[in-house]
Amino acid sequence: MMQAALSIDLESYWHAELLRRLVDRNSADDRVLPATLPLLDLLADRGVTATFFVVGEIIDEYPALVKRIVAEGHEIGCHGYTHRPLWSLNETTFNAELSLFTSALRRHLPGVIPRGFRAPTFSLSPDTAWALAVLARHGYEYDSSVFPMRTPLYGVPGCPPRPYRPAPNMIDNDPAAPIWEWPLTAWRIGPLTLPVCGGFYLRTLPMPVIIHGMRKAMQQGPIVVYLHPWELDEETPRLPLSRRDRFITYHNIGAATRRRLEKLLEQFDFTTMTNVLALRGRDRKVRVRS
Ligand SMILES: [Zn+2]
Repeated sequence: MMQAALSIDLESYWHAELLRRLVDRNSADDRVLPATLPLLDLLADRGVTATFFVVGEIIDEYPALVKRIVAEGHEIGCHGYTHRPLWSLNETTFNAELSLFTSALRRHLPGVIPRGFRAPTFSLSPDTAWALAVLARHGYEYDSSVFPMRTPLYGVPGCPPRPYRPAPNMIDNDPAAPIWEWPLTAWRIGPLTLPVCGGFYLRTLPMPVIIHGMRKAMQQGPIVVYLHPWELDEETPRLPLSRRDRFITYHNIGAATRRRLEKLLEQFDFTTMTNVLALRGRDRKVRVRS
């Protein structure tokens, strides 16, 4: 079996861009533990390790949870400190977010050095490509924030289908780029791009399409799947959203998506992002189409 990367964006349900304004964080239950602990049990049961892109606030609020994640062999990456998207930050405030994240890790998990970053809400695009140099200054080696198609909030259509060294337009390869970019996985069929990489698409597309699409995408490079713990939690609070946003946010969350993840764990040999990049011989052997 060819290896694939599994990435978990560890945050509360209310960190999502559509919901953050609707929740009073001081009185609501964030459901981080009931959403995440069963996922950790499942991964331990199947002997699978993953990359957890963690929101820094979660490290400070749930240090024991993050310690368990590290103890079980998973990789810790950074998902910002407060989950603010890059388009609401600048170099100074992004620098501050990364410093807060590093401090939280040092406080609770000294010795753990994050190598990867995922921008909240896949907010890396040519407009926010300044973030890559900031990440490199903080010692990050790879980023995984580019979504391979245009959606209402984000996306970089035309990006390469595999890890590459991004030029400022986030499409061309530039060997001098400060950091690797590993875009989320899509199945490209002629002019069409079908994201078979996780989240809403993993909850919504028919499973045979997802599995076939992932196998096709693997022919072009290593694949990466993403999920949020709240997508596996039957009791994620349902907030009053428009019909469209309700569908995007809540369709199939809970047991249905957990069964989908279990099926993927049977079909693919998942590991951390760093493991897959290293397996491919990161600097020498990753083939990049320019
Ligand atoms: Zn997120």
